Amino acid sequence: LKSAYGQAQRNKRLRVLINPHGGKGYAKDLYNEYAAPMFEAAGCKVDVEVTKYSGHATDIAEKMDIDAYDAILCCSGDGLPYEVLNGFAKRADAAEALAKVAIAMVPGGSGNAMAWNLFGTNSVSLTALNIIKGLRTPLDLVSLTQPGTRTLSFLSQSYGMIAESDLGTEHLRWMGAARFTFGFLTRLLRQVTYPCDISFKLETDSKQVMKERYLEYKKQKPPLRPIGCSEEVIGQGLPALKYGTVDDAVPSDWQTISTDTLSNFYAGNMAIMSADVNFFPAAAPNDGLIDVVMIDGAIGRMRALSMMTALEKGGFFDYPEVEVRKVHAYRLVPRGGKDGYISVDGERIPWQPFQVEVHPGLGTVLSK
Ligand code: ADP
Ligand code: MG
Repeated sequence: LKSAYGQAQRNKRLRVLINPHGGKGYAKDLYNEYAAPMFEAAGCKVDVEVTKYSGHATDIAEKMDIDAYDAILCCSGDGLPYEVLNGFAKRADAAEALAKVAIAMVPGGSGNAMAWNLFGTNSVSLTALNIIKGLRTPLDLVSLTQPGTRTLSFLSQSYGMIAESDLGTEHLRWMGAARFTFGFLTRLLRQVTYPCDISFKLETDSKQVMKERYLEYKKQKPPLRPIGCSEEVIGQGLPALKYGTVDDAVPSDWQTISTDTLSNFYAGNMAIMSADVNFFPAAAPNDGLIDVVMIDGAIGRMRALSMMTALEKGGFFDYPEVEVRKVHAYRLVPRGGKDGYISVDGERIPWQPFQVEVHPGLGTVLSK
């Protein structure tokens, strides 16, 4: 008998973490009303916990029994999946945990990029359905080093205006996703710039190539990986860094750009950053590359505004002032000495140089 599940695993065992602080603060109600009844109807085994403090999801993931669950669901924004990844990263069996336990989002935050990218929706009930029927899919993750630390990121890194719009608007949580736009516009009017040095291990900086990738990705479905993890990743912790850390010299085949007038540096692993913001149209969740967009602050305010609206339609390809690249790795060194915002998956990290490299397919998510 053919089932409605297709290749999907039935009766998934789900560890659910709810962030009471995410978005406008309704995550728990949304989960109970729209997601819980669907998981029950589908015969999923569900263990729910509301997080008690920032960093709680990291502690839970670090200690969880990875053989007891098929997926860990974050009813939150992108902050909780980031915490879970970094809980797994601390384990001696990090790669095994990342391969065995899929990470998925039930939207309950402000941006909810993970749900937009993997399920194409921000609706809690549609997301629940997608989780029930979801297939395990590899996701590229990146390692980010700062002096003495290494963290994992699944979504984005930003420096400049976008990082400030994201992190400098915490007091505007009641606005929902609109706080990002509001923050961006107020900074745009002030025309702040962010001096820095950026080095890349480049794959391409051709807009033509980026456009072709975008059209190609739109046609294909992500490749699937069978349930369970491959033997070579078991018991290794995280993979070795190919390009060293931010404390090493920049590799000789990287290109370096030095700028005094940058307004935005934004690196993404998936296309959509929040509702209607398709910032990286040529990014695929498992192409083994990071997409980087850089916008110079020397452009006028009106021009920058018109770019904002171009985002909704799929990108910057027609704007010569916008530089786009696909890279294997990069380093960013802020200049100017002042303190400021650097955002990783929407969370703040110290104002220090950082280096990033991709680990193709290191993580596992559920997707359509
Ligand atoms: P949003 O998309 O609205 O930013 P996130 O899910 O990304 O929502 O989470 C925002 C922040 O909430 C993250 O920094 C996370 O560490 C923090 N957080 C998680 N649980 C709690 C809690 N119980 N109390 C306070 N903050 C929390
Ligand atoms: Mg990618």
